[in-house]
Amino acid sequence: MKYNRILVRYGEISTKGRNRKKFTSKLRENIIQALKDYPGVSVSASRDRLHILLGEENGDEIIPRLQKIFGIQSFSPVVKVERDIEEICKAGAALVHKSFEPGKTFKVSARRADKHFPLETNEINYEVGSYILRNTEGLTVDVKNPDINLNVEVRKEGVYLSSEIYPGSTGMPVGASGKAMLMLSGGIDSPVAGYLTMKRGVEIEAVHFHSPPFTSERAKQKVIDLSKKLSAFSGSIKLHIVPFTKIQQTIHDQVPENYTMTSTRRMMLKIADKIREQHEGLALVTGESLGQVASQTLESMQAINDVTNTPILRPLVAMDKLEIIDIAQKIDTHDISILPYEDCCTIFTPPAPKTRPKKEKVQYYESFVDFEQLILESVKETETITIHGGADSSIEESFDDLL
Ligand code: ATP
Ligand code: MG
Repeated sequence: MKYNRILVRYGEISTKGRNRKKFTSKLRENIIQALKDYPGVSVSASRDRLHILLGEENGDEIIPRLQKIFGIQSFSPVVKVERDIEEICKAGAALVHKSFEPGKTFKVSARRADKHFPLETNEINYEVGSYILRNTEGLTVDVKNPDINLNVEVRKEGVYLSSEIYPGSTGMPVGASGKAMLMLSGGIDSPVAGYLTMKRGVEIEAVHFHSPPFTSERAKQKVIDLSKKLSAFSGSIKLHIVPFTKIQQTIHDQVPENYTMTSTRRMMLKIADKIREQHEGLALVTGESLGQVASQTLESMQAINDVTNTPILRPLVAMDKLEIIDIAQKIDTHDISILPYEDCCTIFTPPAPKTRPKKEKVQYYESFVDFEQLILESVKETETITIHGGADSSIEESFDDLL
């Protein structure tokens, strides 16, 4: 059975009033980008629906890609046939057979958008239903709660049949709500925070801090691999890799041990904010979850957040670890995150970081060093990689000359 098109139903977008057009055209753009390996495909968006015309392309290969695109409520592969009852019966039977197992129930739901078709709705239901029953042993009709619902839509240009509904990723199309910088470590939390932010329609660029030789190439590769997983939801992702060794060592030498962690986080935030500014992002995103570790108490957040007025999105703030792990498994980042390579923060973590740091104190300790200069150097030496998503993700390395 060869599908001719896929019918896509919008999720939350359809409640967007006057902005609706902006959202639907963003979704169309994202679908085209996700299916760029299939040149025969074309996409047309209308007010309530979007149609993916498959041409000669294989619908079964396209389905898993659609399942990762935010802004889709559900979608159904559709077969188009001539306005001929025999053709409709045959195509209907083939569709039902695709998901049929003995004992299953079905029903036919016909709709006549074109009233010139010689059979009425009930007659179509009857003709198609009885043809399928005659040709399928073990199948019965259930009009109230069928396992398989065969939709038949008669239009002027042809007849459309569908029987399967795939759930979409819901949310809003990536890029429809602006851009933010995700502070991406190699841990479990921050990739999940990135995923949830993208789901709200935000385009993400990732910022990662590494401290060679204390952190290895493998630790860096882990973050590239995590970004690749995230890029499956957005088509591509930029990853900014910031050299952080000098700053960490300076903090280690100059700031009292129980305040090094607070100071490190403040420097990270300052740098991420500068990179955000250069790339015209509107917010920062972290994987912080309230109370999870010393740096994630409200007192710590206040002392760290002190360095910027930029909105910081913390999508995990009220989640517990098991909920976060659940999502990490679903988006396939979990097994990469648990690989045991060192992170720049864990290496310099003091045995007893302050859980209730005072921002006045950390400001005072930092005042003896020209951190601004070190920050500018780090930003200047930042390396930017663009990672393209999809089944065969590729990586393109470029030193960003904006920096
Ligand atoms: P994660 O699992 O995301 O590493 P975590 O629970 O281990 O989070 P922390 O290590 O305290 O928590 O980090 C808190 C947040 O700070 C992270 O979620 C991430 O957003 C950011 N962060 C930590 N380390 C780095 C890093 N090396 N590069 C970029 N961001 C980082
Ligand atoms: Mg971490």
